[in-house]
Amino acid sequence: MPTRALCWFRRDLRLDDHAPLSQALINHDEIHCVFVFDTTILDALPRQDRRVEFIWHAVAELKETLRQQGSDLIVEHGDPATLIPRLAHRLGAHAVYCAEDYEPAARQRDTRVAETLKQAGIAFHALKDQVIFAKDEILTAAGRPYTVFTPYKNAWLARLHPRDYATWESKTLVSRLARHDDTLVMPSLDQLGFGDTDLCTLRLPLGTSGAETLLKDFLERMDDYAQTRDFPGIKGVSYLSPHLRFGTLSIRRLVKHALEHGGDGASTWLSELIWREFYQQLLWHFPHAATTSFKPEYRDLAFENDTARFEAWREGATGYPIVDAAMRQLKRSGWMHNRLRMIVASFLVKDLLIDWRWGERHFAELLLDFDLAANNGGWQWAASTGCDAQPYFRIFNPVTQSERFDPEGHFIRRYVPELATLDKRAIHAPWKAKVLPAGFTLGRDYPFPIVDHAAQREKALALFGKREG
Ligand SMILES: Cc1cc2nc3c(=O)[nH]c(=O)nc-3n(C[C@H](O)[C@H](O)[C@H](O)COP(=O)(O)OP(=O)(O)OC[C@H]3O[C@@H](n4cnc5c(N)ncnc54)[C@H](O)[C@@H]3O)c2cc1C
Repeated sequence: MPTRALCWFRRDLRLDDHAPLSQALINHDEIHCVFVFDTTILDALPRQDRRVEFIWHAVAELKETLRQQGSDLIVEHGDPATLIPRLAHRLGAHAVYCAEDYEPAARQRDTRVAETLKQAGIAFHALKDQVIFAKDEILTAAGRPYTVFTPYKNAWLARLHPRDYATWESKTLVSRLARHDDTLVMPSLDQLGFGDTDLCTLRLPLGTSGAETLLKDFLERMDDYAQTRDFPGIKGVSYLSPHLRFGTLSIRRLVKHALEHGGDGASTWLSELIWREFYQQLLWHFPHAATTSFKPEYRDLAFENDTARFEAWREGATGYPIVDAAMRQLKRSGWMHNRLRMIVASFLVKDLLIDWRWGERHFAELLLDFDLAANNGGWQWAASTGCDAQPYFRIFNPVTQSERFDPEGHFIRRYVPELATLDKRAIHAPWKAKVLPAGFTLGRDYPFPIVDHAAQREKALALFGKREG
């Protein structure tokens, strides 16, 4: 008897090299595809959210691609824990396939879906797709998860075999996609309860086609990555993070490109992809770190948590030009360069003495590439509370970081135009400049620093140092 399956797309919004879809096509005769705009996530978001619009475009493109194959994407809006079992039952599906997700809320949701499906006699397959090595495939000799990056990376590389990044070929099986003669309706953003954002004016490449454009562009620059990746004023990084987050590109293809390309640039970039997996497996093994310090000694640190300072940080008005430029980049574009994420996170925790979780939450609200594992990992690294974190006594100096990584001040001038007339010596610390341009008044045109770095550094050392003794 022919068997039917449902492929449930979540943050894997592509058809190419898609492990769950390929498995479903291999094992079953008729495959239906579904995406659910999940109200358990959407209800908590502001009514304008760039991510919802980013996803909407990716889903619309996925739907159109399926239609070109004679099939379609069923698009639902509601709680997937109810909708998926109901749909699987209505379609007479024997199994539901999806990509395994390590976030605590997603794990709970999938457990509920699997249980309901089981009661109806329908199988649930959550397959590895977002990572090269799943949560428990890279363990220490004692069978424990790695908590330090370098040995994890070495073990990851030692285990890597071409079959781990072999791409899934599903083209020959597309005839098994369920036929749909009439177009299935897709809710508009408005019907989902969301307004348009500035996403289209930002001209971000969207969907799988946008991801391909970005990848092609980056492959031509990959050789320079190791030299350019730390400079926010230079086009050095790949800008692929939102696409990795929503799966409009597969991780296997990226790893394959890096290995085949070879050289310093490619191997440095591969390391970053391994950092991504390092944090993902940490989240799986230590889900409590999503809400509290990984290191117990740094739980309940007596942060000052001054709300006016927090507001100045959020708005890009701290008086430290590199911090302000970075925070304005985040607000304006929904993305921030990695070097800047480290600088502003360190500044929030060790200069403003504000709980890292406040900053983590702000990033989670604004980042287009927001990913719980990477964001939490990045914040705990900068705050020194994470497992393989920056030691607490290494405190970024925002002025020297600025001089080193934006030496000409190009990046600062782009996001803090009121400093555009300052020369490259004055722009990193205008309050120290002997001469400022005519017509520019510090305190009127741009704020004085809200804190003194040297004094705050001492306070941070005392705050963290107390826990060491
Ligand atoms: C405080 C803080 C918060 C962060 N929050 C996020 C987040 O929410 N989502 C996110 O994807 N990344 C996060 N990062 C990691 C990193 O900043 C971004 O992945 C990177 O800036 C994305 O730009 P890109 O795609 O051009 O990166 P590239 O330099 O081109 O790197 C390629 C890919 O590798 C992965 N990657 C790179 N660096 C890291 C890293 N340090 N940790 C984990 N994965 C990495 C990303 O998937 C990235 O797209 C955070 C870092 C810090 C310090």
